[in-house]
Amino acid sequence: MIAIYPGSFDPITYGHLDIINRCANKFTKVIVAVLNNQNKSVVFSTEERVSMIKELTSGYDNVQVDNFEGLLIDYAKKMKADVIVRGLRAVSDYEYEMQMSLYNKQLCPEVETMFLVSDTKYSYLSSSIVKEIASYGGEISNFVPSTIEERIKAKYGCK
Ligand code: ADP
Repeated sequence: MIAIYPGSFDPITYGHLDIINRCANKFTKVIVAVLNNQNKSVVFSTEERVSMIKELTSGYDNVQVDNFEGLLIDYAKKMKADVIVRGLRAVSDYEYEMQMSLYNKQLCPEVETMFLVSDTKYSYLSSSIVKEIASYGGEISNFVPSTIEERIKAKYGCK
């Protein structure tokens, strides 16, 4: 089965990497799909986000990294995906995720959305919180791999 794991990944964190690892162990192929959305303000460009994920997932034979524009369900059909995977952290993720999965199901019933519950270690972790902490010069080494930490610090002008 082919799974798509879509998101902003601005930037990738240990929470995302945990989901990718779990998917890679279960699916034949995992496509990590970086949303290339002009309307959403991002710190890292699409190219930067894709290359950071590629670097960190190069050890997996069945993980591919790509970017997409427009409707996720159209991209999923184009890539012949069976499943869309999303991570669920807190109850606060639930309402939006349910709405999106029902919408996608209506547009394309063959593609299922599956949710993986976040590891408890990462249930509080998001790219936004990492960026916020970094913007105040705080410690982020528990949240992202060191190569990503360096890139974030460079963006925020920290040493
Ligand atoms: P989006 O803007 O699509 O929510 P994100 O990069 O924030 O993009 O998240 C992409 C996916 O990864 C979402 O399904 C999100 O729930 C999941 N995710 C983000 N952080 C974590 C985490 N710490 N643990 C598990 N899943 C996560």
